[in-house]
Amino acid sequence: MRNTIATRLLSDLSTPGRRGASYPASDVPVEPLASLIPSAFLADAAPQLPELCEPEIVRHYVNLSTLNMSVDTHFYPLGSCTMKYNPKRHERLSRLPGIVDVHPYQADGSNQGMLELLYEMQQMLGEIAGLPAVSLQPAAGAHGELTALFVAAAYFRDKGEQRTKVVFPASAHGTNPASAAIAGFDCVELAPAGNGLVDLESLKRAVDQQTAVFMVTNPNTLGLFERQIDEIARVLHDAGGLVYIDGANMNAIMGITRPGDFGGDMMHYNVHKTFTGPHGAGGPGSGPIAVRDFLGPYLPGPIVTQSTASDGTTTYAQTTPAKSIGRVRAHFGNIGILVRGYCYLRTLGAAGVRAAAEDAILNANYLKALLADVLPAPHGPHCLHEFVASASGALKDRGISAMDIAKRLLDYGFHAPTVYFPLVVPEALMMEPTETESKETLDAFAETIAKILTEDPAELKLAPQTLPVSRPNDVQAARNPILKWTPCVKD
Ligand SMILES: *Cc1c(COP(=O)(O)O)cnc(C)c1O
Repeated sequence: MRNTIATRLLSDLSTPGRRGASYPASDVPVEPLASLIPSAFLADAAPQLPELCEPEIVRHYVNLSTLNMSVDTHFYPLGSCTMKYNPKRHERLSRLPGIVDVHPYQADGSNQGMLELLYEMQQMLGEIAGLPAVSLQPAAGAHGELTALFVAAAYFRDKGEQRTKVVFPASAHGTNPASAAIAGFDCVELAPAGNGLVDLESLKRAVDQQTAVFMVTNPNTLGLFERQIDEIARVLHDAGGLVYIDGANMNAIMGITRPGDFGGDMMHYNVHKTFTGPHGAGGPGSGPIAVRDFLGPYLPGPIVTQSTASDGTTTYAQTTPAKSIGRVRAHFGNIGILVRGYCYLRTLGAAGVRAAAEDAILNANYLKALLADVLPAPHGPHCLHEFVASASGALKDRGISAMDIAKRLLDYGFHAPTVYFPLVVPEALMMEPTETESKETLDAFAETIAKILTEDPAELKLAPQTLPVSRPNDVQAARNPILKWTPCVKD
């Protein structure tokens, strides 16, 4: 049955005169507002606010909150997004008064604890990356990409080199070319190779003295490790260019190998993905970048530096790198997400971080094997932390598309995988179970997909049948959102 709760606006629920609280009559003489505030700052009329009592408001928002799927309510195998469980302990710790009550304009001397935390975060991120210079500022992965490209541009400008091109493979996340274009570079896309990996020969043809950066996700968006990454880096470095590692897939390699060790010069993290910041619905994120020492002087500031006095006391200070590109965000970006990531890293430690990556890989391969007969993944035989299955067989045989499967999964209480990305796989369903899911959950998910593939294809086109909205026109929904829900389907 279709869920129709919480589909009215607060203004629809309003009853004139209704209040959340009633106060005793005031014994203080009433002053007209105009005698307290200059008339230029007063509105002509009071705003038309909805009038409701407290339980009405609470029910409205609690019911609304149940209309969305979340990691706390459902299995959420949204490929590329690393929707792992966010431990509640991190939420508690990040709300400690010593964390939430510090002010960024406090003098450094009164803020040593927070600066120490951020310094240690810089160190840990530098260590996991194998790239020692870190800026915590960028607000998300895409912002990290843009920031790093500005850093690269400043570096080449400083060297007096004119480099105009950024190259990326066809499997790249859409943010890669978007960041390159916004940073003022020309985008060059490599033709896809049959095995899903970068084709070295087309890379060699594309890279020249005008190439500034090659952006590559490793493991890539098919969940495959670029085995020739050393060779790829050599091609770039021989031409004087830089290698950018899109670190959105760090969940597959953290603690196992490091972008700096396999030839990367710069990378971003998605702290909200890899290190358990709650995400989805647009933020807040955190996308620190890590770069080689020679690029460190161009990073945005502030950076936390540590110094030890002769008596052994350690102090932390905020500094701006010598040739900094300037700020890309106030202070240290979204500190709340950095604190959660810090909790995650300190809780797991080096061995635990590696174990998390290994379990993520195990879960993805287990799910891939369970689905091999019904929804095969064209690339393999093994994957890292995610894989891309194709519904093109189901479409050809029974008319069931990737979208039909994704929509029907919602009726069965599973969030859909990422669909139609990467573009190199037809009818793509990109699945990333993460390490935080049990075998039972993965079994149930695979059984559900197998069942959906036996259902009536005409019925599947109507899915989901249990949610208030079924299949909005995606383009219209983004361009022309209808914020007021009106029932369009009768139960
Ligand atoms: C998520 C993602 C990004 C963008 O990161 P945001 O934090 O969402 O800005 C870039 N590349 C890949 C491969 C991603 O999965």
